[in-house]
Amino acid sequence: MYNVPADFINEKKIWETIEQNLNPEPERIREVLAKAAEMKGLNMADVAVLTCISDPEMLGELFNTANTVKETIYGKRLVLFAPLYISNLCSNECSYCAFRTTNKEIVRTVLPQEHIAREVKELIGQGHKRVLLVAGESYPKQGFQYVLDSIKTVYDVKTEHGEIRRVNVNVAPLAKDEFRQLKDAGIGTYQIFQETYHRETYSKVHLGGKKRDYNWRVWALHRAMEAGIDDVGIGVLFGLFDYRFEILAMMQHINELEEKFGVGPHTISVPRLEPATNSDIASHPPFPVSDIDFRKIVAIFRLAVPYTGIIMSTRETAKMRRETFALGVSQISAGSKTNPGGYEEEDEISGQFSLGDHRKLDEVIRDVASMGYIPSFCTACYRMGRTGQDFMDLAKPGDIRLHCAPNALSSFKEYLQNFASPETIEVGNKLITDSISGMSGLAKQRAEKLVKRVESGKDDVYC
Ligand code: SAM
Ligand code: SF4
Repeated sequence: MYNVPADFINEKKIWETIEQNLNPEPERIREVLAKAAEMKGLNMADVAVLTCISDPEMLGELFNTANTVKETIYGKRLVLFAPLYISNLCSNECSYCAFRTTNKEIVRTVLPQEHIAREVKELIGQGHKRVLLVAGESYPKQGFQYVLDSIKTVYDVKTEHGEIRRVNVNVAPLAKDEFRQLKDAGIGTYQIFQETYHRETYSKVHLGGKKRDYNWRVWALHRAMEAGIDDVGIGVLFGLFDYRFEILAMMQHINELEEKFGVGPHTISVPRLEPATNSDIASHPPFPVSDIDFRKIVAIFRLAVPYTGIIMSTRETAKMRRETFALGVSQISAGSKTNPGGYEEEDEISGQFSLGDHRKLDEVIRDVASMGYIPSFCTACYRMGRTGQDFMDLAKPGDIRLHCAPNALSSFKEYLQNFASPETIEVGNKLITDSISGMSGLAKQRAEKLVKRVESGKDDVYC
């Protein structure tokens, strides 16, 4: 069934919507922004209007509205994670990626389970609680079981400093029964990026291997959701094609998932093409996205799908990452390495692409905290079964504040006590005190209670 063309990505309709909403008057833009401020999301035409904004004054209004929505829904917290690359074997030929099968300039590595366990210990030692497990599309002789074994390995590592509490996964699209096994392995979110929704571009940049099949990939989240995975993540690799088209196509994908399954994606990722070993297109994107357009893209997603998390990776520089926190980003990676085994031994050449932010977790945390954002290592929702529709029901501003803010503060306190440098402890403790004094009612009571429990030596407390 899922090899048929995916009609829900309707290219004709996307172009028509772009054409019909070109050069909007300021009144029309303000009308869309006023609707967005109600936090009920936007339709395709509204989104097309926002993509046209270039005037600095209107851009300012867009960014302010995105900031208001972000702070109302998510408050000041930022969830942290690290990618964990387990293998860079790949049988595909994606022209932009260093892992592509014909690239002879990188060292191919498939981490054995003992090595994965050592990488995980290293990440736990830095303070991480969430990892995103990543692999190329080719597994060693045990096949897909390798991924399942690796997830088990990650969860099984326990140290005196804690453990990884949530494993999200970014691996190639699977068949439905494999998705079921992934669910049974206890994953958090399954994420997959379509790279480009534009079919012609898709076939130009995916030159060989299973990934050439656009339909197999674009139906992947349907199969995942039917298999019972209700937290899924989507994304586009910006730079391959016109970003206006990609945003609208992603809206069609989101609307389709909402219609079919009653719930849209849990997260949106916004990777921009970065240089990759031996890849020309990665260094010279056919549709480069400027920094200002990149910020606009984040702000538009924040308004279009207010309850969907936005992930900002270390592909971007520290400066760009900082700028997008206020516009809608809710999750960031930190201290990342993209070569398998990279936490023990770095090898930039064999990484998947170059990074813009090389800072260690402690430094990122101190920076984020000094900007007034609360670094959160919380994994409560997933562990209490608040996923999919349940999460979306909870994701109302008031409820989020009652759970997420206290949990963010207690998980941050746990980080400060067990892992932080003296400078970070100083900045962090002040932030916790200031945040609690700015709270009121039940949220404040919960935050005080949870933080006190951590201070008394209890880890992993949440509500
Ligand atoms: N191999 C699987 C796949 O392609 O679906 C798993 C994910 S792949 C290791 C992770 C993501 O990295 C890809 O989906 C792609 O969007 C991104 N990526 C690849 N090359 C990149 C580059 N040069 N710059 C930025 N992101 C890149
Ligand atoms: Fe392989 Fe994924 Fe890289 Fe494509 S993007 S070459 S599938 S690792």
